[in-house]
Amino acid sequence: MQKKELLYEGKAKKVYATENPDVVIVSYKDDATAFDGQKKGVIAGKGAINNQMTNHLMQKLAAAGIPTHFLEELNDRETAVRKVTIVPLEVIVRNISAGHFSSRYGVEEGLVFDEPIVEFSYKNDDLHDPLVNDDHAVALKLASREEIQTIRSYALQINELLKSIMLAAGVTLVDFKLEFGKTEDGTLVLADEISPDTCRFWDSRTGEKLDKDRFRRDLGKVEDAYQEMQRRILTD
Ligand code: C5P
Repeated sequence: MQKKELLYEGKAKKVYATENPDVVIVSYKDDATAFDGQKKGVIAGKGAINNQMTNHLMQKLAAAGIPTHFLEELNDRETAVRKVTIVPLEVIVRNISAGHFSSRYGVEEGLVFDEPIVEFSYKNDDLHDPLVNDDHAVALKLASREEIQTIRSYALQINELLKSIMLAAGVTLVDFKLEFGKTEDGTLVLADEISPDTCRFWDSRTGEKLDKDRFRRDLGKVEDAYQEMQRRILTD
């Protein structure tokens, strides 16, 4: 497979065209940003870890019936995926309070919810990704009512699958963000990544943070946390 022109460069990934119009190559970077791009840095080795962890988890989800964009890992930081149109919604699932849930609603970190929470943000950098409900998303034509129902159902299934994978690795899945895309024929598939950049992972025994919060909050041992997650998930 040949890498052709750069189609898109985001904060943590680049996307290249290939000779096949239905296939693009995602290339993961070591660059890290936080707080709406205000904090910038580099996490050495992150691109390769996120690429490999995403592919490993997407294949497990696919085996359990979740359609994904994954096609083939090309090398340690590049993967061929199906070309999709990204649904402009960040789909966040929360099992335990943390991050913006805690700051927005004034609750401490660590409250375990009786049921998972699914929330949506409108993916729009200029507007700083505002929180939207289903009606907002339909009114703004970000997705249809049926698509939102399908996305919610996939998100909850993915939560159960990821929770059990993480539990077996001694990791508590606190929350995570998903993105979905639509193929040419309108099929919804899981896209983007599942990694310590996009999930909160806490060591089940010690509560130690094993994710990007170490970078966001200057907690130190950032690379160590990514490597620890790689060791626990990719060597199972
Ligand atoms: O910041 P917040 O608490 O809303 O984040 C919830 C979850 O979604 C976290 O795991 C965070 O890493 C992820 N997230 C993300 N990209 C964003 C916003 C949130 O990966 N733009």
